[in-house]
Amino acid sequence: MRLVLLGAPGSGKGTQATRLKAALDVPHISTGDMLRAAVAAGSAMGRKAKAVMDAGQLVSDDILLGMLEERLAQPDAATGFILDGYPRNLAQAAALDQLLTKLGQPLDAVVKLDVPNEAIISRCEIRFKAEGRADDNPDTVRKRLAIYAEQTAPVADFYARHGKLQVVDGVGELGEVTARVKRALPHESATAGG
Ligand code: AMP
Repeated sequence: MRLVLLGAPGSGKGTQATRLKAALDVPHISTGDMLRAAVAAGSAMGRKAKAVMDAGQLVSDDILLGMLEERLAQPDAATGFILDGYPRNLAQAAALDQLLTKLGQPLDAVVKLDVPNEAIISRCEIRFKAEGRADDNPDTVRKRLAIYAEQTAPVADFYARHGKLQVVDGVGELGEVTARVKRALPHESATAGG
């Protein structure tokens, strides 16, 4: 199963991907987690990305594509993946399409978690207090939501035009949202691995 999870920051993509990966038996690939790991490791790329991330802006498409290409080449991604945080704009969506076509591994599904902005803002406030992520401070969250509306929302339209998009209500109890996502997936893969 090759799945892209779309949704605004704080819509629950990471939480749901963590819950789904065991059921789907594929790795959870979060570009935000990969970037945070690079920042924590203090690599040259991480140092460059940190300021951009703290400001709630998007890191360059080139860096992201290089990172993703390397990650998808790892053996555990051969059977599929849950992609969380990528693509974030139309250029990235086109690059992903091209990459997966080259690998002969097209996407099986794209699921968008739909959560109203007010709920997002309060979830990020809670995460800010719990985890202290600089980009979860309320001003930066508003910036990230604006970037989402401007650059990432068109990605959902792009997949809708290709008949791949499923929109799932992301508000509610975690297990219920997971069940909704599973119901939105192509049937045979959704049940693989239990
Ligand atoms: P996330 O954990 O997915 O919310 O990502 C945290 C931050 O990492 C984002 O606000 C961006 O600065 C950066 N980031 C993650 N994924 C991407 C991407 N696909 N393109 C550009 N920047 C990204």
